Amino acid sequence: MRLPPARQDGRKICVLSLSLRPGILFTTQVSLKFQTMAVLHNRVSQKELKERLYQETEPRTTISFYQYFPIADPKIFRDELYQALNEINVFGRIYVAHEGINAQLSVPQSNFEKLKMYLYSIEALNGIRLNIAVDDDGKSFWVLKIKVREKIVADGITDQSFSMERKGKYVDAGRMNELLQDKSTIVVDMRNHYEYEVGHFENALEVPSDTFREQLPMAVEMLKEEKDKNIIMYCTGGIRCEKASAYMLHNGFKNVFHLEGGIINYARQVKEAELQSKFIGKNFVFDDRLGERITDDIIAKCHQCGQAADSHTNCKNDGCHLLFIQCEACAAKYDGCCSVECQTVYNMPLEEQAAMRKGLDKGMMVFNKSRQRLRPRLNEEGKK
Ligand SMILES: [Zn+2]
Ligand SMILES: [Zn+2]
Repeated sequence: MRLPPARQDGRKICVLSLSLRPGILFTTQVSLKFQTMAVLHNRVSQKELKERLYQETEPRTTISFYQYFPIADPKIFRDELYQALNEINVFGRIYVAHEGINAQLSVPQSNFEKLKMYLYSIEALNGIRLNIAVDDDGKSFWVLKIKVREKIVADGITDQSFSMERKGKYVDAGRMNELLQDKSTIVVDMRNHYEYEVGHFENALEVPSDTFREQLPMAVEMLKEEKDKNIIMYCTGGIRCEKASAYMLHNGFKNVFHLEGGIINYARQVKEAELQSKFIGKNFVFDDRLGERITDDIIAKCHQCGQAADSHTNCKNDGCHLLFIQCEACAAKYDGCCSVECQTVYNMPLEEQAAMRKGLDKGMMVFNKSRQRLRPRLNEEGKK
């Protein structure tokens, strides 16, 4: 594989290594290496990288963090970050934009402190909370990918005067509970419907759209008469509600707060400090469990029979895969499928199923139509 032209220029590479921050690790080794091979992306096949990961004997820690702060040149920031993280064998998926950074990564345990020191050496990231994934085998990433994006959270905001530099006040679990004692406090859920459906803060307002970019103007419109009230925005991990809080301030709201670290952090603080959880039900997350139970309340209903249920599942028919809520009885009755139609397909011989999917792939319409046909009916039942 050929290197991009800029990287073949030895001098340029040299300049690059000199421009690294003082906090960077292994300085001599790093710059030596860069002069000979400044590879800022991976050149080994995915398969081989994955094999290497599984051969590793040292456990990895999976962490995530984000920070909104102005980055003048995301491309340069990205390259420096890549070099530093690559040196300490970090894998992961990171997005960098003018507005900040959003990272999910894994690091060999013995390099955790080095990673922390490096991140803290970047002024805007000094002291940042690194969320450590608990139930994780550290095998989620086998390569380091850092991408420059327009935004770290797509927001659809076209107003050039909008800035992430003025955002709502952070609240932790204790302060959140305190604010909630005042009945005039408004709590706004900035997640999707299927997340809200299985768990949310008591009396939280749902902003009924499936995309964050639509939710932003919608939240402003919904609350336009409440500009002086205390408004708390929240989401799963904090990154969306933090932007939402800035957008509310931008639109003239005065007392805007956002839940620091989102529901994930709230649940942890509630447990540690033995506070009462004002979040009821389940926190939906995209892992194998599709959600973490926060309280015993079951606030949702099975989309098929209407019984109390809050377990999301994907329809077992591979040609459908619809995400929906199903109770145990319906799971048995429909073989884990969302409808009798899907169940029929699911119980066909595998070759026949594959042949059917082939037909569907050619005409995505059929596939989509069947989903649309399902969705309204499911929503109707789900909301009863
Ligand atoms: Zn059911
Ligand atoms: Zn289905």
